[in-house]
Amino acid sequence: MPTTVQPVPMLADNYAWLLRAPDGTLALCDPPDAEAGARAVDAAGGRLAWIWLTHHHGDHIAGAAALRERYGARIAGASADAHRLPPLDLPLAEGDTIAFAEGARVIATPGHTSGHIAYHLPESAILLCGDTLFSIGCGRLLEGTPEQMFASLAKLAALPDATRVCCGHEYTEANIRFALTVEPDNAALQARARDARAERAAGRPTVPSTIGAERAANPFLRAGNVAAFAALRAAKDRF
Ligand code: ZN
Ligand code: FE
Repeated sequence: MPTTVQPVPMLADNYAWLLRAPDGTLALCDPPDAEAGARAVDAAGGRLAWIWLTHHHGDHIAGAAALRERYGARIAGASADAHRLPPLDLPLAEGDTIAFAEGARVIATPGHTSGHIAYHLPESAILLCGDTLFSIGCGRLLEGTPEQMFASLAKLAALPDATRVCCGHEYTEANIRFALTVEPDNAALQARARDARAERAAGRPTVPSTIGAERAANPFLRAGNVAAFAALRAAKDRF
C-alpha cells in the first residue's frame, strides 16, 4: 500500500495535509486548527507521529502545539525559523530527510517567507509546498525577493510531472481569473477553469494539482526569467 495524502480543510480556505505511511503512521502538515486536525487524525486511525511545518504564519502552525501534546507527535520545521515556530523536535534544512515512509526530503523554498521549506516524498509523488506554489498561482513575496521565489519555484517545477502539488490554500479559482488575463488562449488553463468550477460547485477541493498540470497552466511557472516573474507577481498583487 503506498503512502496516501488527503487535504484537511481548516479555517476559511486553508488546507492541512494528512499523510498515512504504509506502516499506518500519520503525518499532518501545517495544521492551524487542532480540533479539525484531531478529527482527521482519529478518523484515519490515530497514530500521529509527525507535524511538519512549512513556514511560520499562524494559519499554518496555530494547531501544532496542541496536537503535539495530544498525540505525542514530533514537530519538524525549518531550523532557520526556530525562533518563530512552535518548539521543534526536528529542526530541518535543505537536503535533510525525515524517516517517514520512503523518506521525506526537505527543499528550501524561500520567497513567501525567508525560511519557507517544502517536503517531497519522491516514490509517493507527494509535494507539500505550503504557500510557495499554489494551484495556478504562487505565494506573495512577504519576506523574499523575486530572485529567491523564482529559484524556489524552479526547483519545484523540476520535480516529475506526476508529483501531486499539495498546497496550503484553496485559491485556485481566484488564481485562474488572474491567469486568464495573462494567457487567455492557453487551452490547458481553460480546461483547468472548467474543472475547478465543477469541483467547487460540488463542494470538493481543487487540489492536489500536479507539477505537470502546473507547468502547463500556471503563469508563475511559465515566466521565462526573473524580470518576467517579478512583473507577473506585481500585477497579481494589484489584481
Ligand atoms: Zn503564509
Ligand atoms: Fe497561508
